[in-house]
Amino acid sequence: MNLGYDNAVAVVTGGSSGIGLATVRVLLGAGARVALCARNQSRLEDVAGVLRRDYGEDRVLTRAFSVLDEAAVNAFADAVRETFGRCDLLVNNAGQGRQSTFADTSNQDWCDEYELKIFSQVLPIRAFLPMLKEASGAIVAVNSLLAYQPESHMVCTSSARAGVQNLLKSLSLELAPDVRVNSVLMGLIGSGQWTRRFAEREDQSVSREDWYRDLARRKGIPLGRLGDAEEAANAIAFLGSRAASYITGAQLDVSGGLNRHI
Ligand code: NDP
Repeated sequence: MNLGYDNAVAVVTGGSSGIGLATVRVLLGAGARVALCARNQSRLEDVAGVLRRDYGEDRVLTRAFSVLDEAAVNAFADAVRETFGRCDLLVNNAGQGRQSTFADTSNQDWCDEYELKIFSQVLPIRAFLPMLKEASGAIVAVNSLLAYQPESHMVCTSSARAGVQNLLKSLSLELAPDVRVNSVLMGLIGSGQWTRRFAEREDQSVSREDWYRDLARRKGIPLGRLGDAEEAANAIAFLGSRAASYITGAQLDVSGGLNRHI
């Protein structure tokens, strides 16, 4: 299948780790030039060095900032236009999940979580929309299965993610036929956040392989394992590509069958 990324320009937020970094690699491998951002400058620079070595000096642009900083997001869009002249794909991936029940979620936690989930979509979409329209481009949002299958130990994340799906559906209508808008609903992908939870495990003697296997069993994942970041990235790259040219307003779940809704 030709994904049609030759000469395309993609932007990936949260591209320095996990699913975002795997997406950057898949897109570069498919021929795109890629701009990526994240907050931690030194990790971003390390990643950029490796990417430039692997894929070429002039195919990678990086900027360190938070996607919640509107001025910085707008400056990033200006830099992408100046450097690459266009933007065909925006992947809104930056973020993380918050583990908390209703009892231990404060008002500030609710505000922070809603701000992260909603504005990590709104600000980059607004900033890159003119270029996406010019290119008849696409937006792919990285979201979670929790949007449809809420869990009580992740109450505000689940609720905010449902709001994101609603927002994306409206956008897919408002931006058609110029820009396609789709999302990927992640189940458990063995990247950054699960690496951090593994590091904090109660029994430090348990190996990563055993901890992941037990986690998949406890969660009842039909395919019996966590997903790899590259498996998530492949779904993102497909939805953003010309191979998905008649798909908008859709969601694709990457959860090893954990998705129980029909
Ligand atoms: P990682 O922690 O591995 O990567 C997250 C990336 O986002 C990093 O590059 C991080 O860099 C960046 N980032 C985080 N917050 C911001 C911010 N405010 N502004 C800019 N960059 C930011 O996470 P994953 O790969 O596991 O997750 C990627 C996305 O997928 C997240 O949105 C997550 O919520 C979602 N997801 C993941 C699941 C999973 O099982 N892994 C399940 C469901 C959803 P830095 O810290 O330097 O800013």
